[in-house]
Amino acid sequence: MEKLIDKTKFILNKYKLSANKSLGQNFLINDAVVENIVDSADVNKEDLIIEIGPGLGNLTEYLLERAGKVIAIELDNRMIEILQDRFSLYNNFEILNQDVLKVNLNELIKVNKNNEIKTVKIVANLPYYITTPIIMKLLEDKLDIESITVMIQKEVADRLIAIPGDKLSGAITYCVYYYATSESVTIVESNSFIPEPSVDSEVIKLTIRKNHPVELKSEEKFFELVKTSFMQRRKTLINSLVNGRIVSNKDEVKAIFDKLKLDYNIRGEKLTIEQFAELSNYLCNSEI
Ligand code: SAM
Repeated sequence: MEKLIDKTKFILNKYKLSANKSLGQNFLINDAVVENIVDSADVNKEDLIIEIGPGLGNLTEYLLERAGKVIAIELDNRMIEILQDRFSLYNNFEILNQDVLKVNLNELIKVNKNNEIKTVKIVANLPYYITTPIIMKLLEDKLDIESITVMIQKEVADRLIAIPGDKLSGAITYCVYYYATSESVTIVESNSFIPEPSVDSEVIKLTIRKNHPVELKSEEKFFELVKTSFMQRRKTLINSLVNGRIVSNKDEVKAIFDKLKLDYNIRGEKLTIEQFAELSNYLCNSEI
């Protein structure tokens, strides 16, 4: 197979195209990294792969060889003709020229699952400017998918796959942990892309959990509580809960903390997911 770096230069030249930075276009040109992504995602003929942001199709080509079907969602209409030309011989390929954040993925999955397509996986080299909203959508839409294998900025990856309560954790860490188990696949240097991004990259794999790690009375209350606690990272949890109007005054919070055996000086970022769950379930039960 021709090397990705040569193919990429050839396509950019043929279509007189340059990368659009505002759309987060950094094309992968490292064949070993692309193979690693497809291997880690464990792509096979029973899979529908939803690829977000196929760009010139460098990852798409490997996916098409291994998957039952690939549906690629690309916002930049300049890429559509390229993808259609490049993959005209594949009958397991479909392109949607849309903003992934506006696509009804549940519906897309429903109409594409059948006797041959048994599992759905998300695989992508994501546009970095909207990594977090995309990941949140993929998780919060409760899609019927098995896993999400994506290239993202290393700094964001560190936060996503941290253990809740660890130094690197943020509100999104708890959300990811609630919905999925996570692992780092590989760290990728900037020279694996054209043009080179200014930040380091990492491939991570999220495997959707069959059962959540904690039982929640209200997911909405739990995520509101976690987000409020992390909005003011330097404040104690007591102050965050009062400032964020989750509880009306400090005395009431202290009474709750006494019941749940929480230290008055604890900060939100130190709570385990079990402690957040216990607190949010308690708040659901009380009249506060
Ligand atoms: N998959 C290609 C590769 O690895 O070489 C390109 C990856 S590039 C980092 C991200 C791609 O996402 C670009 O092709 C960009 O146009 C596309 N993109 C940006 N915003 C998008 C959105 N809201 N919906 C769908 N695709 C988007």
